[in-house]
Amino acid sequence: MSKPIVAVVGRPNVGKSTFFNKVVGERIAIVEDTPGVTRDRIYAEAEWCGVSFALIDTGGIEPDSKDIILSQMREQAEVAMAAADVILFMVDGKEGLTAADREVAMMLMKTGKNVILAVNKVDKAQLPDDFYDFYELGLGEPIAISSANMLGLGDLLDRIVENFPEGAGVEDEDVVKIAVIGKPNVGKSSLINEFLGEKRVIVSPIAGTTRDSIDTPFERDGEKYVLIDTAGIRRKSKVNEDIERYSVIRAIAAIERCDVCLLMIDAGEGITEQDKKIAGVAHEAGKGIVVVVNKWDTIEKETNTMRNFRKDIAAELTFMSYAPSVFISVLEHQRVWEVLKAAKAVAENRAMRVSTGQLNSLIVDATMMKQPPADKGKRLKIYYATQIGIKPPLFSFKINDRDLMHFSYARYLENKIREGFGFEGTSIKFVFREKG
Ligand code: GDP
Ligand code: GDP
Repeated sequence: MSKPIVAVVGRPNVGKSTFFNKVVGERIAIVEDTPGVTRDRIYAEAEWCGVSFALIDTGGIEPDSKDIILSQMREQAEVAMAAADVILFMVDGKEGLTAADREVAMMLMKTGKNVILAVNKVDKAQLPDDFYDFYELGLGEPIAISSANMLGLGDLLDRIVENFPEGAGVEDEDVVKIAVIGKPNVGKSSLINEFLGEKRVIVSPIAGTTRDSIDTPFERDGEKYVLIDTAGIRRKSKVNEDIERYSVIRAIAAIERCDVCLLMIDAGEGITEQDKKIAGVAHEAGKGIVVVVNKWDTIEKETNTMRNFRKDIAAELTFMSYAPSVFISVLEHQRVWEVLKAAKAVAENRAMRVSTGQLNSLIVDATMMKQPPADKGKRLKIYYATQIGIKPPLFSFKINDRDLMHFSYARYLENKIREGFGFEGTSIKFVFREKG
């Protein structure tokens, strides 16, 4: 399901990361081993009352002058505007209303998006006298919270969820939504042009008036696809880290809305750190992924070149060894359509359901081949498993003791399920429940 996106905007030190960590804390702990973005805590998935959404912390680097604060906040606001369904504007209740807050409020209002105002650091039930100043921002009723003490967060999350657009997360079943992600110059536009042929429309988004992303539907061999394109802020930033951060945020916004992410890399360069970050996001978000190695024409080939390249990719993307890779040359029109076939297959795998009967006989065989772990004389028992979700496939295991389910055994079961049923190109997720 494509999830609504909430962007947290605010001056440094108002408590954005504290808020972020409280809301998604547990989730971050679970995904700690995913490289890249989660470590920076730019992005995480959160859930409130059964509604899941993506939370983006747009916070930047510590500023050293007032001017830089403002220019950074402007960029934050632009990123938020481009990516978010709801903007959470956080201010500091201890410090009271500042001129910078007013300026940002103006910018946010112009975006036309739903903006929710949270006044953080209200640690006591008694509101500070100057709390009412925040009404002047014209963003509606400010919500008092204390991120540090986890006060008021429930009310705030209620308000956020209420503001999600109608139908957020609802999708057309037959269409495969594809996001093409990768560093500049790897050949993304060339590939998109190839897919769309003459249909390519050049759209120049006018700030504040167009949607951030331009989705282009097309058909091939009777199958329907939508290309998700992140147009966006091409603004130059003084700080390199900023550029990378924002391009990653843009990519995240596209990934959130896609079914399958085409991670495009340059055959001459291999996988870079940024590619890993993006792959990590797609993995964590449970999206399908196809690694597209472009410019294969530039590589001198020997017998094992492709096989070795595949091995290198697997070594770099160890957390997603399930991703297929396709080697193409857009320039020479080589195997370009294989990419779409792979994307379609991955989308189908992501939506695949296996029967409880088949699943359990596979699990029984797996536990006979490799005994479950034991600790202090107590052995892990798996009573039964069921697939409880798709996109990505989600499996629930009823077991005797969660502490006995070691990571390595879960990994073993995952491998067995993959061997038995496929699921190429999609992450699969497990929940373990103790029999009560
Ligand atoms: P960010 O720069 O906006 O991400 O802010 P941080 O989350 O890093 O917080 C900045 C400072 O404010 C830290 O010292 C936090 O401990 C503190 N802080 C965050 N939330 C609260 C709160 O609810 N009450 C109080 N008193 N301090 C807070
Ligand atoms: P983007 O920045 O990722 O959208 O990349 P572009 O599609 O603009 O391509 C960047 C450059 O790479 C252009 O000069 C393309 O002609 C070139 N290019 C794209 N695909 C290939 C390919 O398969 N082989 C070679 N040799 N060059 C390519």
